Amino acid sequence: MSILVVGSVAYDTVKTPAGTREDALGGSATFFSVSGSYFAPVSVVAVVGEDFKDGDVELLKDHGVDVSGLDRRPGKTFRWSGVYGAEDVNTRDTLDTQLNVFADFAPELSPEQRKSPYLFLANIAPELQMSVLEQMDERPKLVALDSMALWIDISHEALERIVRKVDVLFLDETEVRTFTKRSNLVEAARAIMAMGPSTVVAKRGDHGVLLFHGDSIFSAPAFPLDRVIDPTGAGDSFAGGFMGYLAATGDLSAEGFKLAAMTGSVMGSFQVESFSLERTASLTNDEIEARFRALSDLTKFTPLEDNESLPFRGAAHA
Ligand code: AMP
Repeated sequence: MSILVVGSVAYDTVKTPAGTREDALGGSATFFSVSGSYFAPVSVVAVVGEDFKDGDVELLKDHGVDVSGLDRRPGKTFRWSGVYGAEDVNTRDTLDTQLNVFADFAPELSPEQRKSPYLFLANIAPELQMSVLEQMDERPKLVALDSMALWIDISHEALERIVRKVDVLFLDETEVRTFTKRSNLVEAARAIMAMGPSTVVAKRGDHGVLLFHGDSIFSAPAFPLDRVIDPTGAGDSFAGGFMGYLAATGDLSAEGFKLAAMTGSVMGSFQVESFSLERTASLTNDEIEARFRALSDLTKFTPLEDNESLPFRGAAHA
């Protein structure tokens, strides 16, 4: 089944310990769309400026992404610039954000988009996320939302209003804490679930994610890489794999969410291996599946049988 995503399509300037890229294709909706497109049809709603390159539209089209909702407006495309820590690549500072055509973006869904069974509200202003949700003909099967520190700081109330209406919330672990003003991650995730979402995905950079779903907690590792080039878009690519898996299988059981988290982790790991979409846009299904298997092997061990115990000192060990 198809996924509708609303979010940013951007040109990013990033500086990482591996180098610098200027005006590279990025944006929350872009990373999500390409990642999700390996599993399910994706339709994107976003705005770009006159400077948006035809080749970048083609890249989306080449992945079967429906770009009929990509609105081209007079002005410049959204620009974002960030720098990653030399010591810890999980830390990043935003250097500059230029809204440009995003400043008066009013997303309008087509009749077909209003029927999408899966909706991903990628990182943009919470008011815009709400306006998209309100345009849906009926409540989608699954609504997921991603946000960031900026909106927690400047639009807390609007963010809270939309969080109450979604099923899945993706946030970095520090954002989970600041959004709920709770320092304990488990307590913070439960506080979010008490607001409405049945699932909270706390992203922990190269430590993977914690998936809170109903009463259960599942830990999906990040795939260990010997070289991280650029973490930009890892969260969105994770969400693309996660939602793509769910939309492709329709499996919204606890097990389905675990496999979605593992698929997300696989897609996030490819994203950080290059700048922009170089790696994520040129994957094969075989590569994705091989990494999924490798990630599964990473966490495989023989669990204790009911009649077994740990080899405690002084106790007979079966
Ligand atoms: P991620 O690394 O997954 O958090 O996503 C990074 C992407 O978010 C970049 O490509 C940026 O263009 C985009 N981004 C950064 N700030 C904003 C913002 N305020 N609104 C929308 N998108 C943003």
